[in-house]
Amino acid sequence: MRTGADYRESLRDGRNVWVVGEGPVEDVTTHPATAAMVNEYVAWYDRHFDPAWQDTLLTPPDHQGQRQPLALTPPRTSDDLRRLGKAISAVHYLTGGNMTHTPGYGALIALGMLNVLKRLGHSAEEIAAAEAYRDYLAETGRFLTFAGGGPLIGTRLRENENDRAALKLVSETDEGVVISGKVQMHTSTPFAEDLLITSRTELPPDSGRHLWFIVPVNAPGLRVVSRRIAARHVNPFLSPLSSRFDELDSMVWLEDVFIPRERVFTAEPINRNTRHSLVSWLLWHHSYGWLAKAELTLSIALALAEVMGLKDTPQTTEQLVELTVNVQTTRTCMAAAELEPETTAGGHALPNQLHVASAGINTLRVRQRMGEILRALPGSSLVNAPADTDFADPEMAAELEDAFGGGGYTAMQRAALLQLAWDQVSSGLDGREAVFELHASGGLAAWQRRLAAWFERYTELANGVHNFVQVDLPPLDLSSLQELPAPPRRMPQTMPRA
Ligand SMILES: Cc1cc2nc3c(=O)[nH]c(=O)nc-3n(C[C@H](O)[C@H](O)[C@H](O)COP(=O)(O)OP(=O)(O)OC[C@H]3O[C@@H](n4cnc5c(N)ncnc54)[C@H](O)[C@@H]3O)c2cc1C
Repeated sequence: MRTGADYRESLRDGRNVWVVGEGPVEDVTTHPATAAMVNEYVAWYDRHFDPAWQDTLLTPPDHQGQRQPLALTPPRTSDDLRRLGKAISAVHYLTGGNMTHTPGYGALIALGMLNVLKRLGHSAEEIAAAEAYRDYLAETGRFLTFAGGGPLIGTRLRENENDRAALKLVSETDEGVVISGKVQMHTSTPFAEDLLITSRTELPPDSGRHLWFIVPVNAPGLRVVSRRIAARHVNPFLSPLSSRFDELDSMVWLEDVFIPRERVFTAEPINRNTRHSLVSWLLWHHSYGWLAKAELTLSIALALAEVMGLKDTPQTTEQLVELTVNVQTTRTCMAAAELEPETTAGGHALPNQLHVASAGINTLRVRQRMGEILRALPGSSLVNAPADTDFADPEMAAELEDAFGGGGYTAMQRAALLQLAWDQVSSGLDGREAVFELHASGGLAAWQRRLAAWFERYTELANGVHNFVQVDLPPLDLSSLQELPAPPRRMPQTMPRA
């Protein structure tokens, strides 16, 4: 596993990054829009060398005393999943769940792809290539992200129906394929090194072939177009989260990009209801991210209850109880998912998908309410809390101490916590996170559909009524409910023309 310094160096690779509102970014390691996030990724790597973190982040020693990063080691048992889940959760908490993508998430993308290819039983060469790529990530710590490959709005509205797909196969030889097109937003690409793109349509059209391919972010012809940075105050005292954790979701535009054969795979369309799909481990990872956000909301609420002198008031206690129940319900679902794992075609342990769905649904259902509680809990001080710089003026400092200090806490201490609360539940970063929840793993409706499709006891429960009624009922068959279609999504072919 490489160090953070090696990772930082690897980002100076000629990548072509444009950030909306900023223009071209020559060097992501130094540009003000991206440098802070690079630092967080550097810290992700370096934490593995920190003795205080090693028991959380590394496997137990093998017979030669060697330990590996859990994040890069495929789980084979429930114990492996428990350990990996604890590591993911601990790291997510450090960022308040705002670094949804890490090199460990990338390793789970590669593991998902390998297992899909094994389940499909396609070609031995492709399975071997996927295995080799996964091993390569584990050895190097190289950072992979994933884009579902949907088309952008302009592409969808093209006159000719055949031109509405996101990606076009320009040419193909034994050596590889050449691809052009533009794909939808996906997360953290300015900081990643490789990108797995799955095609939502057949390539070429009507071939029955769904190509997935892995492309380096610095490939010739590839441009990363990142969203605008989360609006934030330049003073990190006022933006303690958003000045550090803006992972920048991006589109990718490809113009005649060559992909070598060993990085091209023949797979399947992504179906959100497929139980062992490319994204199965990713949904688990997302849920830990949302749990970390919820836990940070609870952390701030608890600290504020104390610092604002509210912890003994009945209304605050009610609010804290509600937040605690929300957090623990999700955590319990996650523990269940790891204690009752499923086994994939490749023999890997996958967190029980039904329990992961329960965790996701709980988090998504309570998200807005948790934000509202934290916005309400400290009262109007949340809005009018000062900055550290306001205390530089001695007269203002004395007045601010009078206005905000007392009861065992200084005005500066109270202000720091209140600004953290604001950044957590009222900032541009919080808004971006809400959109991420709605789209990156489908939103509440998609999670509910998934759970309904995976629930296995419809027929058993329907027939449970036989014990309670005084009439003869024939056996009931409700198994069709498991065939629920995946939530609809816009396909290029079905776009109406203006
Ligand atoms: C911040 C962020 C990060 C993301 N990160 C990733 C990532 O890392 N990897 C990745 O693969 N994806 C990621 N996504 C998801 C991806 O970029 C798309 O947003 C997602 O696939 C939805 O597609 P769309 O944006 O084109 O919306 P659309 O599909 O156009 O949907 C727009 C609206 O129409 C509704 N709608 C869509 N189809 C139908 C229909 N048939 N009937 C009725 N209503 C419909 C939707 O519910 C939605 O409200 C991310 C998205 C965001 C916002």
